[in-house]
Amino acid sequence: MSVRRLLLSVVLVLLMLSGCKEKAPEIVITNNEKSKESPLIKEKEPHFDAYEVVAGDTFSKIARKFNVTEEKLKEWNQEVVPEALVAGQSLQLVSPILQYLGKEEVVFQEGFTYQVLSDEMIQKISGYSYREGTPVDYTELRLVNVLYIDLKGKNQTGELIVNQYLAQDMVEIFSHLFEEKYPIEEISLVEKYQADDELSMSHNNTSAFCHRPIEGSAEVSYHSYGLAIDINPLINPYVREELVLPANASSYRERDKSQFDKEIAQMMIAPGDLIYQLFMDRGYEWGGDWTTPKDYQHFEKHIN
Ligand SMILES: [Zn+2]
Repeated sequence: MSVRRLLLSVVLVLLMLSGCKEKAPEIVITNNEKSKESPLIKEKEPHFDAYEVVAGDTFSKIARKFNVTEEKLKEWNQEVVPEALVAGQSLQLVSPILQYLGKEEVVFQEGFTYQVLSDEMIQKISGYSYREGTPVDYTELRLVNVLYIDLKGKNQTGELIVNQYLAQDMVEIFSHLFEEKYPIEEISLVEKYQADDELSMSHNNTSAFCHRPIEGSAEVSYHSYGLAIDINPLINPYVREELVLPANASSYRERDKSQFDKEIAQMMIAPGDLIYQLFMDRGYEWGGDWTTPKDYQHFEKHIN
């Protein structure tokens, strides 16, 4: 093994909020040693790391958080009785997410990277997407750089900020979308739109982290934790009864793809399509699967 094991302790505090569809998770990371070694992990062989169980953990929660199946988790921890998990207990895990959590920068492949927020980036988002009441620390966020194909078929570079638990998913998902030439109009930080979500959506801008309440509620959104992403939001609006957001998206509340030009229909997220499947495979929930509201642009990951 050329790569030094990361000493890592992850403490999760589950904050249950009742009466709200989106639960508000709280994540506290401690002892997160930053490795100065090359972030590019070349070994193909399994790389085991330990995860310390916290109160309230179940096999399914841990599996979802680290993008592994419950079956795999059981296979790696045959001596552990899933129904009798105890806080402080150690579990063996093989997950890219766990391997990469402490890295300052990870190069997934050319054009698809993520890194801790630089001082300049922290300054840039402070007072905008990162503002008073933001429930995560800067150190828990990652700047993700991706390539994508725009509506003219041209290669573009995009930036997203997400929670560290989602960064590896993002480079994997967006590299697949790029290979398959999935059209995305724009991927810019919401700072370009003064962190005004409506303005950003109205420009069909794909974005993730932004501290804000859930629409129509005082609860903190998953976007506030960097645990949600909105894709092509103009074509995939948020719909609650008569309300359609962004306001210029009313024609897209109709979801029958045959009613639209091919260029538009390609961007309409629907169950079973490429983008839907990429997120589902990694344990995300799609807002289009909710009964009400319908949030067709929105994917979120419940990591606790
Ligand atoms: Zn959203």
